[in-house]
Amino acid sequence: MIIDVHSHTPQYRGTVPADQRIINPAWRPDRAVSSVYNWDEYLREQKPADISIVFGVAWHPGDRTGGVNGIDESSDLPGNLNDKTAAFVQAYPERLIGFMSLHPHDPQALEELERCRCDLGLRGIKLGANYQIFHPLEARALAIYEGAQRQGLPVLFHQGTSPVRMAPIRFAHPLLMDEVALRYPDLKIIMAHMGHPWTADTAVVIRKHPNVYADISGLFYRAFGYYEAMIKATEWNVLDKLLFASDYPVTTAAETYDALHKVNDIVAGTSLPRVPEDKLEAIIYRDSLKLLELN
Ligand SMILES: [Zn+2]
Repeated sequence: MIIDVHSHTPQYRGTVPADQRIINPAWRPDRAVSSVYNWDEYLREQKPADISIVFGVAWHPGDRTGGVNGIDESSDLPGNLNDKTAAFVQAYPERLIGFMSLHPHDPQALEELERCRCDLGLRGIKLGANYQIFHPLEARALAIYEGAQRQGLPVLFHQGTSPVRMAPIRFAHPLLMDEVALRYPDLKIIMAHMGHPWTADTAVVIRKHPNVYADISGLFYRAFGYYEAMIKATEWNVLDKLLFASDYPVTTAAETYDALHKVNDIVAGTSLPRVPEDKLEAIIYRDSLKLLELN
């Protein structure tokens, strides 16, 4: 069983109109990413993942309509971004687990949390403090963590840098997650992208907090950084706390799967240390749903 803990909800159920296609060249250095897509494309590109966690991003407080993963995206699905995630999950309940996205500056964020949990069946929360421009330790954000901890909802945080110009990088620095975990020790936290490029900072945070994990999405296409992240995780003895993830559409699950078999290629023929292959294989088949108490 392969579980992908990080992927983004399609904007369209049916065909994407040609004039709505967005090809984004900034997300990864080796190829452009088609960032508007439909249910069929998503499901096809998620193989070989058996179960995927899927969510949108609430870019603005009170995003009641509009986009799923960006600003002003159109869609053929009704409701807000969480309704669009729930519709997709309800169509493929054996393959998908939906998380909600909340904006701490939305005065109705806690009501939306309850609506998503009780009415829509969404089972965790996605936050991106840099994209959403809130401080991860401000009171309105803490209120969401409090509710999440009480209801057993894991929170996946975007961590580390991004190419979005108006997203303050410091709000996504991994050391802030240490402060969150100190306040909410029972909250299940996933630190996305191993906090790239601050992967050592991420390693020391997940090392000390039993309920804090990191996902490996969006890293492999920087081959040295990927190796470096994995060797730091080896030295800090946290390879067992890394979760398989694609960040689709930025990468596919198949690309991520293949790349885990190539981590050490960059040091072939050198005396540099190698990441244990059996531990890399274990990331692919990790039972993340059990760790997050979602099974
Ligand atoms: Zn993502």
